[in-house]
Amino acid sequence: MSWRGHALHFDTLTSRSTPVEAAIEGDRLHFTLEGVTRRYAPEEVKDGDRTLQGEARLHLAHPPGAVLTLPPEAVPHLEAGKFLRTRVRQAAFVMRNVVIVGSVFLALVLAFLLLGIRPLSNQLAKLIPADAERAVGQAVYDGVARTGLVTADSLSAAALRKVVLAVLPEDLSPDQVRVALLEDTVTVNAFALPGGFVVVHRGILNLMEDESELLGVVAHEIGHVYERHGMRRLTRTATLGILTALVFGDAGGIGSILVQHGTSLLSLSYDRDEERAADAFAVRTLIARNLDPGGLRRLFSKLEAQEGRVKIPALLSSHPATAERMTRLESLVAEAGGAPEAPQTLLTPAEAGALFRRVAPPASY
Ligand SMILES: [Zn+2]
Repeated sequence: MSWRGHALHFDTLTSRSTPVEAAIEGDRLHFTLEGVTRRYAPEEVKDGDRTLQGEARLHLAHPPGAVLTLPPEAVPHLEAGKFLRTRVRQAAFVMRNVVIVGSVFLALVLAFLLLGIRPLSNQLAKLIPADAERAVGQAVYDGVARTGLVTADSLSAAALRKVVLAVLPEDLSPDQVRVALLEDTVTVNAFALPGGFVVVHRGILNLMEDESELLGVVAHEIGHVYERHGMRRLTRTATLGILTALVFGDAGGIGSILVQHGTSLLSLSYDRDEERAADAFAVRTLIARNLDPGGLRRLFSKLEAQEGRVKIPALLSSHPATAERMTRLESLVAEAGGAPEAPQTLLTPAEAGALFRRVAPPASY
């Protein structure tokens, strides 16, 4: 018994959907993506569910965050191959949850009436224990670390770690911190996760010339974590589950609910106020530690000068608009008492050489 047809591969890391030709042969599932054939056994599918349209949605164990959506015709084959729960077991599962969700729904309606969704999720975010937050960061980081992209270059890795440790908030100890440099030149990205996890793609380093630019980006990303922007978003998407756990006195369950939603941390976009708060954290921290706070602004102006030639990374191009943001960064520096006269240099020339590709700046810069 086999099936062959169209499916859709969604990569939550890059938010990219790609149509693929998939095939199910017994307990083997495979499809070809970007010229590489990926094969899965049932135990390599973490979770499967069905959409209202009857499509099957499989959360693949690798690469992290990958989701494969297959048409309704594939469902019987997926069930036979043990990739999906059979309908009978699923029905019992649904019934049990209907009872739970029903009672929580009443609590939720009351909470909405009293508080509204945003304040409600912000209140809930405050109730999340620190170890649950760290569990979320750890789970997402583990997924990233399993991509096989983590650098083998120990000089680069040590240099990046040095930069991250220099801008850490005081409540994090260096031995809690995990830093991954991914040898992926296509993705222009860097992000921090709750609990002291920082991930930087080689693609963004290739746009930089010196440590101040990297310090600015890393401090900004850590600012989002410090201000708990991601956790607030996550609580907003997981509100129902968290209320369920609270109503049933299962505080320990909160961690696993958040972990289930954790990969959404990778595709968050922040609003204007959150970007400003993260910029303010970055400038404050850099100045307080006698580091050059001007790198983030210089990176922006360079990217603006290169617009059209270089794709501006989403994490930098969102809001507010670049020009407004550069002005704002300057006034943040002034508010914090001005840039240090003799900022310290963290990296040795060899370490800087390992991280930054010394490309000539564009003529207009
Ligand atoms: Zn940001």
